[in-house]
Amino acid sequence: RIAYVNGRYVPHNEAAVSIEDRGYQFGDGIYEVIHIHEGRFVDTDLHLSRLARSLREVSIAPPMNDAALLVVLREVVRRNRVNEGIVYMQITRGVARRDHAFPKGIAPALVVTARHGTAFPRDIKAWAGTAITVPDIRWGRCDIKTVNLLPNCLAKQKAREAGTYEAILIDGSGGVTEGSSTTVWAVDANGVLRTRHLDDHILPGCTRAALSALLADNAIAFEERGLTEAEFRAAREVFLTSATSYVKPIVRVDGVAVGDGAPGPITTRLFGLFARHADGAAHN
Ligand code: PLP
Repeated sequence: RIAYVNGRYVPHNEAAVSIEDRGYQFGDGIYEVIHIHEGRFVDTDLHLSRLARSLREVSIAPPMNDAALLVVLREVVRRNRVNEGIVYMQITRGVARRDHAFPKGIAPALVVTARHGTAFPRDIKAWAGTAITVPDIRWGRCDIKTVNLLPNCLAKQKAREAGTYEAILIDGSGGVTEGSSTTVWAVDANGVLRTRHLDDHILPGCTRAALSALLADNAIAFEERGLTEAEFRAAREVFLTSATSYVKPIVRVDGVAVGDGAPGPITTRLFGLFARHADGAAHN
């Protein structure tokens, strides 16, 4: 495997960054993950514009422009011969003597890796998963995709220990925010497809944005309105979206079946629409 580190393509197991990299010391960095399907990136523009926004919000200068970054991303994918998988990019503020305040005159550090993943799911029943709920203990700027993911890791670990796929986060006022690494969608008890509105408390998912556009194109109604915990537990259907989860049906929450415990009709339709979208991106 080959990684890109600050201008060089190096064997993955030899790739290294400084112990004084601020990403390592402070979680002072931004990342993105793009899904690779049939050797092509899915929703590239959405990911690159979110990356630019995240960097801007924490005042890290982009290490290169988008065109140059795309060349690096494609080269890493090519050198690793990834056809189905992900490309990961991480930009930290850089290396400096440890001091909380931003050091002056340092260059941001860019690391890019790619890895093989499982083939795009075609069988919705086999792709369905389960979830638990946990309190959302994260900070006030979850809209920024930072590498500071300790609360997300703690939540995901609880999900794994419970033998489930995802931990769904419930905020202090009893509202569903998002999953530890996914956007949460639900068809409520009245049959209304809903996902939480965007603000500082959730990451603006690129898959969420892509799916929203597909919903609009197909005249499928949905509301950007978060669910209370009670509404969520009464939902007929629940599914997650992310660059690596695609459209992922959740058929049990905290051990209780969602609806009849199988992927519902709306989730099934959107699973199909998103698969066609991903296939389309691959064939463009
Ligand atoms: N929410 C969080 C906290 C995430 O970490 C992610 C992705 O990793 C998502 C939502 C989904 O975002 P995307 O669809 O861009 O992968």
